[in-house]
Amino acid sequence: MTVSRYSIVLLGAVGVGKGTQAKKLVEALKVPQISTGDILRGEVQAQTELGIRVQEIMGRGELVADDLLIAIVRSRLKKPDTARGAIFDGFPRTIPQADALEQLVLEEGMPAPVVISIEVPDEEIVDRLASRRVCLNCGATYNLNTDQAAIAAHKCPDGKTAMIVQRDDDKPETVQKRLQVYREKTAPLLDYYKRKRSLKTVSGTGTTNEVFARVLIELDGISE
Ligand code: AMP
Repeated sequence: MTVSRYSIVLLGAVGVGKGTQAKKLVEALKVPQISTGDILRGEVQAQTELGIRVQEIMGRGELVADDLLIAIVRSRLKKPDTARGAIFDGFPRTIPQADALEQLVLEEGMPAPVVISIEVPDEEIVDRLASRRVCLNCGATYNLNTDQAAIAAHKCPDGKTAMIVQRDDDKPETVQKRLQVYREKTAPLLDYYKRKRSLKTVSGTGTTNEVFARVLIELDGISE
């Protein structure tokens, strides 16, 4: 099957590798990643009115209001770089957001989303996040244990000064809260998309490339 625009949702708990897989899909499919977490962190970093509003909620590991997120994604989809579609990373996270996404893709003439759920056991997630480091300027993520050389060599694509830190919300106590929020608010989306027959599930354990190979198998048939 040939489609001119992609609409791919990466679903999964915090730390399963959605962002990493999204970046690989961006390269492979030449469509942008829409990471609502990155967008919100950018606002916090710049201390915009929105950033100041959401900072505390994010720090607690809770979800930002649906209407705010829906407005952010609606305006992001108006940018010309989404002409070939988008990889949604971290959105939708609630049923109302998923309903809104159905509407947004219709408005933009994009296909109904194909949803890939990446699954990793909770114990492994907590370990992974303890060593995750992220660049607050460009969203690049690294593992402190395995990527020391890459961290030292990191340069942001826009030439800005790198700022590689542990996210406040990756600290163990907040991770537990985020896992709980995922189970309560986001996991119901698995059934939601199962009913629409658009859910595909892959194991997120193993190397980045092993997981990516599984993702590509699931996407086979939607590529141009
Ligand atoms: P992430 O980088 O996707 O883990 O997002 C970091 C934080 O941003 C989350 O813990 C939420 O506080 C907020 N956030 C990101 N995306 C959403 C969303 N779709 N709905 C509500 N809050 C979100």
